[in-house]
Amino acid sequence: MYIIMLGAQGTGKGTVAGLISKETGFPQISTGDIFRQNIKDKTELGVEADKYISQGNLVPDEITVPMVKNRLSEDDAIGGAILDGFPRTIEQAQKLDEILAKEGKKVDLVINLTTPKDEIIDRMLTRRVCPNCKATFNTKLHPPKVEGICDECGESLVQRADDSNPEAIRRRLEIYEEKTSPLVDYYKKQGVLKTEEISISINRMGTEVAKDMVEFIKSR
Ligand code: ADP
Ligand code: ZN
Repeated sequence: MYIIMLGAQGTGKGTVAGLISKETGFPQISTGDIFRQNIKDKTELGVEADKYISQGNLVPDEITVPMVKNRLSEDDAIGGAILDGFPRTIEQAQKLDEILAKEGKKVDLVINLTTPKDEIIDRMLTRRVCPNCKATFNTKLHPPKVEGICDECGESLVQRADDSNPEAIRRRLEIYEEKTSPLVDYYKKQGVLKTEEISISINRMGTEVAKDMVEFIKSR
């Protein structure tokens, strides 16, 4: 089963994807994590991608699409995967449809997460990530058991460079609105969209949404 996580920055997309991955066994494929790993390792791809990421811009499709295609061809993704951060444009969605169709596969489910705008910026500023295992925490909503330390692996947590840059945050939200939000209609038309709100105002957090989605996936 191929599942796509849609949702603006700060909705808890990565956290929900990670929880669903744990319960279903489908690998979580996060393009942002793959880029950050490459930046850390100073690979050719990382050096190139960083020019865009540090400004809050999208990495060009010539780099992103083959990277995702390769990742999807790895053994653990043959039976399904949870895509987190891809596709982000209609062009990428069309390319993904082509890649999957060649293998007789398709996008089975798109989980669209929404969060009120005023909560989003706050969540981006309070987000902390583990540079080692990629686990995500939030100093207010989902703090680690020991301050500044990853629950999963004990590494020191960091703030992403693009999360501490207000200009990059603004830019990313703008791009989401303009380029990524049209995907909601794209997948609605395909009949695979499921929208879920995550918000403190309605007391519905990512862990509950993940639980409901896992039940839904297993019932199919
Ligand atoms: P966020 O959702 O907070 O922007 P991600 O970890 O998903 O964070 O992505 C970080 C950055 O990596 C993005 O701002 C963008 O520059 C780049 N990126 C990730 N996925 C894609 C994609 N599918 N296409 C182009 N660029 C991407
Ligand atoms: Zn960790």
